[in-house]
Formats: sequence, C-alpha cells, structure tokens
Amino acid sequence: MVPFRQFLLKIHSRCNLACDYCYMYEGADQSWRSRPRRMALPTVRRTARRIAEHAAEHGLDEVSVVLHGGEPLLVGAGHLDALLGELASAGPRVRFSLQTNGLRLLDEPALLDVLHRRRVAVGVSLDGTRADHDRHRLLPSGAGSWARTAEAVRLLGSPEHRELFAGLLCVVDLAADPVAAYEALLEFAPPRIDFLLPHATWEAQPAGVRRSVPLSPPSGEGPAPYGEWLIAAFDRWYDAPRRETGVRLFEELAVLLLGGRAASEAVGLAPVDLVVVEADGTIEQADSLKVAFDGAAGTGLDVWRHGFAEAAAHPAFRARQRGLGGLGPVCEACPLARVCGGGLYAHRYAAGGEGGGFAHPSVYCADLDRLIRHMAGRLRAGLAGLAGVARAGGVSAHPSV
Ligand code: SF4
Repeated sequence: MVPFRQFLLKIHSRCNLACDYCYMYEGADQSWRSRPRRMALPTVRRTARRIAEHAAEHGLDEVSVVLHGGEPLLVGAGHLDALLGELASAGPRVRFSLQTNGLRLLDEPALLDVLHRRRVAVGVSLDGTRADHDRHRLLPSGAGSWARTAEAVRLLGSPEHRELFAGLLCVVDLAADPVAAYEALLEFAPPRIDFLLPHATWEAQPAGVRRSVPLSPPSGEGPAPYGEWLIAAFDRWYDAPRRETGVRLFEELAVLLLGGRAASEAVGLAPVDLVVVEADGTIEQADSLKVAFDGAAGTGLDVWRHGFAEAAAHPAFRARQRGLGGLGPVCEACPLARVCGGGLYAHRYAAGGEGGGFAHPSVYCADLDRLIRHMAGRLRAGLAGLAGVARAGGVSAHPSV
C-alpha cells in the first residue's frame, strides 16, 4: 500500500469569487451545498490525529498539509491560527501550503501574521493578463477580480512577505495569448508558475474541442489547440536567456523525459499520495474528480469512523497506484505512457466502459502528445548541443547522449 503524504483539507467550503469555470460550484458534483461552511476545530483535531496515526504506521517524519476551499482564508485569522496549531502539534513535522485567490489578504492583514508564524507557503490563482483573468475570475458583482488579486500578489511579493510566496496558478484559456499570459505572470516575479488544463472529461469537453474517445495511441497528427498553447508558453520559458521562474508542468515533463520521476498527479505514473478531507470530515479523492459526475470523488469514508489506512486500501485509490497497469488499454500501448501517464485521472472520464469510466486516454490526449513530442525534440537538441561542446572540450559524454 502506498501511504498518503499529502493531506488536502477543505477548511472553508464557500468562495468569495464566482469564477465561471469553477469545478466546485459549477461542476457536476454539488455536495458542497450540504457541507458546513468551515471545518470546525473538533474535525481538525480528529483529522490531525488520523494524520499522526497514518504517519506513525508508515514511519513518515514529514507530511504536507494543503489548505484549500472554496476560499480557505474565509475562515478568518483566529480560526486559521487555531487549526494550524492543532495540525502542527499532532505528531509528524508538517509542511503547510495554501491555495487562495488572495483577496482576504487585503481585507484581513492579521492573516499574514498567522501565515508567517505558522510558515505557510501561499499560492495564488491568477490567470495571465488582466483581460485573461477578468474573462472568468469574477467577483460576485460580475466585475473582474484582477485588480484586487494583483494587489494581493504584489503584497505577497513585497520584501516583508516574500518568504510566504509559493507561486501563481494559471488556468489555460485558448482565448488568451500564451506568451502574453506567461509574461503577465512574470511581472509579479513568482518563484513558480503552474499551468493547469481546465478540468474537463469526454462528457464535458474543454472549450474549443469536440473529440471522440481514441481507439489507438495518438500519431502526432490532427488539431491539438491546448498542446499548441502550452508549446508556445514552453518555448518562451525555455528560450529565456536566463532562468526567469520555474514552470511546474514543464519541469515535471522534462524530468520524466530524462528518465526521472515526477511528483505530479497531472503527468507521469507516480502513485497518488494525496487524500482530501472535506469540511465535515468526509474523506474524498482529488477534487478534480468532481468534474466527472456527482459523487465521483466520494469514498464513503470519514475521519470520525475511519483511518487513512482504510482510505489507502480503497479501490478508488488503489486504481491510481498501479502505474502502467492502472491505465486503460490505449494508454498502456502508448509509447509516451511513462511520461504522460494518461494525464490527470479526472480528465479520462467517459460514461460507461471499463474501470468505472476512467480507463480511457485523457480528453487532452492529442494535446499532451503534441507537447511531450515537442519538448522531447527540444531537450534532445539541447543535449546533442551539450555533447558537441563536451566532445570539443575533450570531455567524454554519456554514450546515450
Ligand atoms: S493520454 Fe497520454 S498515455 Fe494515453 S494515449 Fe494519450 S498521449 Fe498516450
């Protein structure tokens, strides 16, 4: 059994934005409606105890706790401090991180004190240029949220708070110019950027795409608009004369292409080690599954009655810990499978079929194929150039280069 090392806690189940692509509030699963607004301290305490038990069972010195929502900072500074205290004192060393839209940092400065004191790494969701961001990420009034988000990111990037700033998360949008989006994010000097493909399935396909489930691995032909978008961003990032920032998706694919292992759920074949605890203590799988169908992320378990060992043994998690054997037949036969990994599990969903509807290639199959082939070509050319320099300098290169 693969132990969990990442515990994503939904500490607040509502949001202060009304983004039109939100998989939580606009997706197939509407379970948030029946959940408490914020995770109560007894639930946090119980979760902390379950985490400590799990860490002890598996000899883990350190685990990650990701605070999520809704909008996690809606819990307020006092409650945030109390819940971080519960989690920090339960047992193993805890690395805290938090994903936010940033707005509460402006309205409640005491949150920043708590985040510093508890050493919480903060990632902010920001979708490229002002126009890109305001196309989807809306205030409840319907106005765009870029101005306030940008102010919050500037605050986080200021010398006083810079140590908290983990990076920016940007959802890919075909209506955006990829290079302009990347450069707009760079203006905030983020330590890292993560590009996220919009959550979609074969039943609810991404904007601008209408595809049938493929019956064989991709050939590198045909339209791949999300792949082309990412290629343009990759080339801009890769060709920069000096390292401007890290881009998680590109770095992880590069590691995989060079024979290493990636830690991401989005690519590669690493077993899933992330589990979600909802505000009421329900144990669930990754949130992204909520895009598939109502209840797709459910396990029937909760921290009141079950330990994380039972969750790790649950068939839904086991299916995502079997590497190549956990993929459907098309992905299993694909030459890129070790790198692509079939994409994010949720993106493979099509109604019916084997594996509970998840034994299909990703709805982004053509895009992942296009991006990975392009990156492989660029890395190969770079390595060949390095080998030439090494030969000219009399240094013997590795025979495979
Ligand atoms: S989703 Fe990835 S692994 Fe599966 S067939 Fe497509 S490119 Fe290959």
